Amino acid sequence: MNKGINMDWSLSKGAVDFIDDGRINSLISNSVEDKVRYREIFAKSLSKTPLTLEETAALLAIKSKEGLEELYNAARELKREIYGNRIVLFAPLYIGNYCINNCAYCGFRKSSHNTVRKTLTKEELIQEVTSLQDSGQKRLILVFGESPIYTPEFIADCVKTVYSVHSKNGAIRRVNINAAPLDVKGYKTIKNEGIGTYQIFQETYHKATYSQYHPKDTVKGNYMWRLDGLDRAFEAGIDDLGIGALIGLYDWRFEVMGLVSHAIHLKEKFGVGPHTISFPRIQPATDVNLEFPYRTKDEEFKRLVAILRLAVPYTGMIMTAREAPDIRRDVIHFGVSQIDAGTKLEIGGYAANDKKQNLEREQFKVGDTRGLDEAVKWLMSEDFIPSFCTSCYRAGRTGEHFMEFAIPGFIKKFCTPNALLTLAEYLEDYASDETKDEGYKLIEREMAKMEEGQWKDKISLKLKEVMEGKRDIRL
Ligand code: SAM
Ligand code: SF4
Repeated sequence: MNKGINMDWSLSKGAVDFIDDGRINSLISNSVEDKVRYREIFAKSLSKTPLTLEETAALLAIKSKEGLEELYNAARELKREIYGNRIVLFAPLYIGNYCINNCAYCGFRKSSHNTVRKTLTKEELIQEVTSLQDSGQKRLILVFGESPIYTPEFIADCVKTVYSVHSKNGAIRRVNINAAPLDVKGYKTIKNEGIGTYQIFQETYHKATYSQYHPKDTVKGNYMWRLDGLDRAFEAGIDDLGIGALIGLYDWRFEVMGLVSHAIHLKEKFGVGPHTISFPRIQPATDVNLEFPYRTKDEEFKRLVAILRLAVPYTGMIMTAREAPDIRRDVIHFGVSQIDAGTKLEIGGYAANDKKQNLEREQFKVGDTRGLDEAVKWLMSEDFIPSFCTSCYRAGRTGEHFMEFAIPGFIKKFCTPNALLTLAEYLEDYASDETKDEGYKLIEREMAKMEEGQWKDKISLKLKEVMEGKRDIRL
């Protein structure tokens, strides 16, 4: 395989195809709804034990109104129990949309002639990051097409530039990556710049469908190169991995089983499961006029999110701004831990600050176009704490050292207060008057829930320091 990209095409040590289509199909078609069984499985999830593929299939079989109600309640409870009421916020930053691939659903694909192609220059990248910082963002995911110009060195250089920008009190404290799968050497180059999560979506785990949407004569047409992509990242020392599937290419039940198989594989091979799971649904895109027979309905999407929550209790779940506000409002309660907000997909779109969407410059259509301030206000109205926290990652607590889950009470003691401190920073530096007002009311409510004592006094003191102008305070 070459196709214009200079790469060592070896797979990871002991690479295997861990997606067993036959087994997945038979588990899905042979599982029937069984109240006793699904209640046992809910209890297992609620004891924070990841589910097997058989158990996941048993949850996929739930269809009755009563069963679904119980499913949603279990997912809601597990989310609250493990993640508390924090929602972490981030923004995607599109760096370049040149692409050698031809994914049939994507506006960036090579054959899409109406797409305006662009790669940010260093100056433009600095302008984008400045605008993002000036709106209050602290976490970014850099997104790239696949092209010989987006080498590991180029990506690493973008990461370095992003971290170097400091506008007013702003800073980007965590840079994640969504780019093509690399070889081990390439991943090492990027890791050296201090990235957070490396995210690769398999798109569909179903091989026949994968071939249908990704032409064989393209790099992305190689299913196994992509499936093994995060194994090579781990081999290169990146232990923060993000998996995902593009929902709507094939039966969503199969994709759930694929995602769970992927999580089980990573845990078995490396002792560390994925850090995040994404489940983007297909959106309209430039020059894409296909019918998608497996397009997932809102009700099915809700089930998908709840089942994933229960199947992989310790994996963060990302719901992107592809979803419209009403869906986000509904689904966020069933297990989502991260969302993007204030999202612009147009390359150079943050600095341009153009309110209308220009689809020919974007990869696909965004469903939630609300700005960051509006999203923060919305989350607070649902009693969530909008969090910009990056403490674990910056203290080196990634992968298997993920303390949040390992230490009982860690979330209450550290994560919630750190979320409040980062929210207070946002309120002081970027919020509208109304959001600021609501924000401090929320902080007061959260403080009132804390046990009296030295630790609470310490948090109050730190909050006061933020209000007096001190920044980047962490517990
Ligand atoms: N080019 C790299 C790749 O394909 O892995 C990374 C970036 S790509 C721009 C990010 C993701 O966008 C893809 O993995 C795919 O899941 C998603 N995507 C592509 N077209 C989409 C569409 N029409 N609607 C929603 N998501 C889409
Ligand atoms: Fe290129 Fe990624 Fe779009 Fe495929 S999904 S055409 S690889 S940008």
